[in-house]
Order: sequence, then C-alpha cells, then structure tokens
Amino acid sequence: LTAVLMEGRPLAERIRAEVADEVRELGEIGLATVQVGEDPASTLYLRRKHEAAAEAGLRSVDVKVPAEIPEDELLEVVAELNADDSIDGILVQLPLPEPLDEARVITAVDPVKDVDGFHPFNAGELYLGRPTHVPATPLGIMALLAEHRIALEGTRAVVVGRSDIVGKPMAHLLLQSNATVTICHSRTDELGRHTLDADVLVVAAGVAGIVSVDMVKSGATVVDVGINRTEAGLVGDVDPGAIDRAGHITPVPGGVGPMTVAMLLANTLRAAELRDKAALQGMS
Ligand code: NAD
Repeated sequence: LTAVLMEGRPLAERIRAEVADEVRELGEIGLATVQVGEDPASTLYLRRKHEAAAEAGLRSVDVKVPAEIPEDELLEVVAELNADDSIDGILVQLPLPEPLDEARVITAVDPVKDVDGFHPFNAGELYLGRPTHVPATPLGIMALLAEHRIALEGTRAVVVGRSDIVGKPMAHLLLQSNATVTICHSRTDELGRHTLDADVLVVAAGVAGIVSVDMVKSGATVVDVGINRTEAGLVGDVDPGAIDRAGHITPVPGGVGPMTVAMLLANTLRAAELRDKAALQGMS
C-alpha cells in the first residue's frame, strides 16, 4: 500500500489564481507586514509572502524596524497601519525579539485587519465556532483535506502540538468538522497510543521524525506540518516511511508549506471584503 500524496503546490496555485481574479474585480487591496529585527528565517518567509502578494496583484508594504525598537514605538507603527485606509491586512512577523511582549503587540492589531488570525478576538471567534480570520497554516490544511475529500465527521483526529499558531486552531477546525479530537503535546505520555488511534493525524511538533511508521494507523490520513533543518536536509515530523502505511500523506517539503502562503492571500482578500461590508453597514 502506498499512500496518496497530498501535494500542496497545485491547490495553492489554484487558490492564488482565484485570489488574483477577485483582486482584479475588487480593486486595490493592501497588505502590510511588520518585521522587527533581521532574523534570516523571517526575512525569507516575508520575501515569499511579498512575492506571492505581488503575483496576486495585492499592494504590499514591507515595514522593517530595528530589533531594539521600544515596545511603545512598535505599537505606534501598528496603530498607524490600523488607521491607514489603504491597508486591508496587517501581519507582524513572529517571533519578536526579546523583550517585546508578543501578546501585547498582536492584540494591538485591528482584528478586522488581523490576517494571521492571532488576535485574541479572532482566536475567540474560532473557539466559539464562528471563525473570521483563521491562522493560515491550519486553514490551508483544511483546504487540502477538503480537496482530497477526506471525511472528518465522526472520525478520530489527533493533533500533535498545541501552539497558538498551528495545533490549537487546527484542533478547533477539526472539532467544527465534527471529528473527535485529541490534542497531544510535549507532556503527553505514550504519544504512540494516541497517534495509532488516529484516522486523521496532524503533526506539528517541530521534532524531526517524532512520529515513526509504527505510530501511524494503517490507511490513516497524515498531515506533516513540521519543517526541520537537519544534516539530511529539510525533513518533517513524520518518518517518510509512513507513506507505505498511510492512506493519504503530505510530502515535506511541498505539502503544507505552499498552502500557508496561499491562505494568507485568501485572508487578506477576506479582510478587504470585511472592511467593505463594515463600511456599507456604517452608511446605512
Ligand atoms: P511550537 O514550537 O510553537 O509548538 C510545538 C508544539 O509541539 C508544542 O505545543 C509542544 O507541546 C509540542 N511538542 C514538542 N515536542 C513534543 C513531543 N516530544 N511530543 C509531543 N508534542 C511535542 O511550533 P509551531 O509554531 O506550532 O510549529 C510546529 C512545526 O510546524 C515546526 O516545525 C514549524 O516549523 C512548522 N510549521 C510549518 C508551517 C508550514 O507552513 N508548513 C507553518 C507553521 C509551523
């Protein structure tokens, strides 16, 4: 048995093309990113986001501030972008250098413009089952699962990782699709007992090979979110040998990664639509 590969690139390209079509119809849409400091990984991720935004016809603004910026000044930068009518979506690239308070900075972003979906308001909306802006990675995973017609209702879903960016929002999206959800994390005892039970297994721990082949149920759908740089190159959190055991599996790289950028663009479009709607309501 060899699993069906759930490739992210073709679907991501289609979504990006759809966003581009809608951007042409809606007119000018602006995405602003804020980079604090010069972390090379952040620079690379942001470059990809800006390239994708440009290709979709979005106007993107790349705000860079020094790592030593006082927190109040950073909050001022965010406030200016909140007030800027030409900006529909804002994202502050994480992680922020010490001693900046990430929670405080994220909370300063206008929730309507919060295209990362990290603001407590948006996290709360997701938790309450009426999502507005949902973090791009779990949203992309849901799109990938839908593309492959993976049934979720009534299935056992296991999420490994409980971060605010991937694990927790992922678990909520699966719950909303009526899966029975288990969340595993670094203090989980006997991880394999849980993963082996999973019809749908999403692994976002950031630990290379943490899920071995014998921890995967035969025929399961496996989503490997992990990106780990090792001597052997870029690897995921799941042993690649799981391809012979799973029913569906995402490759690393080329699975979840491309979906994340596509969903950021989709979220920016959504933010512009939300602002339009709010403006219309304001006039009535
Ligand atoms: P994180 O470090 O914030 O969270 C990792 C989570 O894994 C934690 O909740 C922790 O409890 C859990 N964990 C750690 N060790 C564990 C163990 N031994 N057993 C069980 N659980 C364990 O990371 P994150 O931001 O959620 O990202 C997770 C991984 O996904 C990273 O490799 C990251 O690079 C990758 N990632 C990929 C994309 C993408 O677009 N493909 C996007 C975001 C993150």
